[in-house]
Amino acid sequence: MNVTPKLVIGNWKMNGLREASLQLATAVAEGARSLPDDVRMVICPPFTQLDRVAEALEGAGASLMLGAQDCHTAVSGAHTGDISAEMLADTGVRYVLLGHSERRQAHGENDALIRQKVQAAEAAGLIPVVCIGETMAERQDGRAATVLASQIDGSLTDNFNGVLAYEPVWAIGSGVTPSREELERTLLLLRGLLQSRLKMDDIRVPILYGGSVTPAQAPTILSIGVLGGVLVGSASLEARSFLRIAEAA
Ligand code: PGA
Repeated sequence: MNVTPKLVIGNWKMNGLREASLQLATAVAEGARSLPDDVRMVICPPFTQLDRVAEALEGAGASLMLGAQDCHTAVSGAHTGDISAEMLADTGVRYVLLGHSERRQAHGENDALIRQKVQAAEAAGLIPVVCIGETMAERQDGRAATVLASQIDGSLTDNFNGVLAYEPVWAIGSGVTPSREELERTLLLLRGLLQSRLKMDDIRVPILYGGSVTPAQAPTILSIGVLGGVLVGSASLEARSFLRIAEAA
């Protein structure tokens, strides 16, 4: 039987100098060798460390892949300071995070822009990991479902075949996660929204959860059968914690 692997993606954010990045990636690559075939790890370092991490991952095969944290909408040209999806693919990147809430907030990224980035990533042969999630205020106002629906409508392409990461903004870096029941309810909602957005009964888009995933929380979160995996921030900066999360998948 062909099982879709559970994805365990590490988002290093703006962390990682040369030596530390090499050591961390090498330690993760070492540990990833003993993972079962149905778990796939992805490391998303900052742009400056992609080459170095790519080298550390050589020979790791499909169980550990390289990801990036953003890309531009254009293929090349006059875009000072930006990196295109094609450049990422050329560096060995397979996955790219798009629309992370920190980029939505700090860089004013909206759904229309994120959708263009998704198109660029798809054109370059990358797998887009589109992040969505409601803020605490939206949750308290009972607007979470509306917000998630409009993010899915606006940021995905019509033939989207990537990964969706549900990251409630209030859970990121806060140490707080939704309860298992709440997460199950939201996953059901997201599946329905994906079905109507992509006009398909059988949705193959994996849905990940992200926000304060730690080795302690991972077994409960990952025991939700329909969950496609997790997106991990701070716990991915330590090889042992990141590997323990992957072991729970
Ligand atoms: P966190 O970050 O695991 O540190 O909460 C998750 C994310 O922002 O992707």
